[in-house]
Amino acid sequence: MRKSAAAEKILLGNVHLLDARSMRAEAIAVADGRVLAVGSRTEVMRARGSATEVYDLTGSTIIPGFNDTHAHLSVVGLKTLRPSLAGARSISDILSRVAELTRSTPPGEWIVTMPVGEPPSYFDSPSGLLEKRMPTRDELDRAAPDHPVYLSSAGGYWGQMPCYSAMNSLGLKRNGIDRNSRPSATGIEILRDANGEPTGVFAERNFVGVIELDLLRAVPRFTAGDRLEGLRRALALCHAKGTTSIYEGHGCAPDVVSAFRKLRETGELTMRSGIVLGATWKDLDESEIVMRDWLSAFRERGFGDAMLRIAGIFVPCTGDTRINPLIRRNLTDLGWSDYVRIMGSPAEFERVSMLAARYDLRVHTIGSDRLSEIVPILERLAQLYPIGERRWVVEHLSKASMSDLIALQRIGVSATLIPAHTVWKSAYRYVDLTDEELDLLCPAKQLVELGVPVSAGTDATPYDPLMCLWAMTTRQERTARRVIGPNGRISNEAALRLLTVNGAWLTFEENVKGPLLPGYYADLAVLARDPLVTRADEILDNSCLGTMVAGRWVYGPN
Ligand SMILES: [Zn+2]
Repeated sequence: MRKSAAAEKILLGNVHLLDARSMRAEAIAVADGRVLAVGSRTEVMRARGSATEVYDLTGSTIIPGFNDTHAHLSVVGLKTLRPSLAGARSISDILSRVAELTRSTPPGEWIVTMPVGEPPSYFDSPSGLLEKRMPTRDELDRAAPDHPVYLSSAGGYWGQMPCYSAMNSLGLKRNGIDRNSRPSATGIEILRDANGEPTGVFAERNFVGVIELDLLRAVPRFTAGDRLEGLRRALALCHAKGTTSIYEGHGCAPDVVSAFRKLRETGELTMRSGIVLGATWKDLDESEIVMRDWLSAFRERGFGDAMLRIAGIFVPCTGDTRINPLIRRNLTDLGWSDYVRIMGSPAEFERVSMLAARYDLRVHTIGSDRLSEIVPILERLAQLYPIGERRWVVEHLSKASMSDLIALQRIGVSATLIPAHTVWKSAYRYVDLTDEELDLLCPAKQLVELGVPVSAGTDATPYDPLMCLWAMTTRQERTARRVIGPNGRISNEAALRLLTVNGAWLTFEENVKGPLLPGYYADLAVLARDPLVTRADEILDNSCLGTMVAGRWVYGPN
């Protein structure tokens, strides 16, 4: 304990340091944005000065703030910008919401709502409605004859496919959609009546939704200003869940990078943010020019400060490349994504990653179910360039084999997991796996045991880290509540580490960020209950009472 300085704040409560020794304390003092002291009440109170604020949080638990290492942060706020249809139980409920919106919208202007169904996931869209179908153009026309109306669809990542959207007649007209219209992209369907006329309802089966790029070109888009406002709102929403740091390993699109930069500039960025750049080049030659010349500031550990650091690139290795021409023609039109939605192939990944290694740019890619294809490429690269020191990351790791995980350990590549998405939301995709393979789905336990740097993120589906904690400790999927790979379950503490202290490695901050040890950043969350001893079925009953970043309250304390 430094005796010279007085504490700015002292918090009394049940403190989990989450250091290597799993120490606990009764109090924590902070000063100059760092932890000044932790220990017994008596010890810590010695740091009390005349101006020290003392917070008696007895009964609450103080943990290192959550580090959501796959956050898609701006999308969290974007979802609050459009009028919600939450709570609508029937088509007439929806029509009265739309009619209400016509009263505050000048005639002729678009009315664009959030999807039908219950947020945050809209799984019941439209099965949760009394009629179990979307409203048609005729019905929407009755509610809004003078406004183009679009009930947008949830993205495949956070919703459940097929994702439905609906439009009234004026909306269809603005988009030039009639009985002869056909989508050019696959996975999109225009629903039609017995006479072949569009009913106004669309269904999309693409995981990454492209209907607006393909068919609905007249629908208003999210602007750069919307993305900035989305990010601003997301900060408050995520701080209210105890999140103090995020990492955007999926690679941010230029407008999103710019929104982070702008909030840093105005002093509004209260979330420590690690940003990875999305790849926008059109071919290998262009990628080399970009990496050699334009991304030089983002090589190695990148550029920035303790609040915003930009480093490395995202290189796609998987996905449905058929959507690429559409995406490339509309690079700034991101829809519900915050990343550049170009999909990749293993061959392209290898070529681009080889160049990235040459220019010392850290590579991030989505592992999902394709780790077996990615590992041999990483092994070839590692023969030429030692990857471990470069801290490359496989994101969204879901399906894995033990030998591939061992290879990651050997090469020195880290992994991020999105447990709520993989295990809770999407386990239905893995019904064909054996019990042993299911134990390795979202392999938190095995990665920890192997010593691979691993952390977890919410993927914004939903953005509450407690949902990920619950998913890792119970491994329960959402439809039949089946336990997926019971041998893959980990303890509350192990899961909490993946969601807090482990993420600092991704930004080379493991010696200053994470555990609540003296000298480390004073980034913490105050929770109503102790998440280390909470029973699995009570994890989601916990709540955040206060969040501190760099010694300042960014939420609460309540
Ligand atoms: Zn993602």
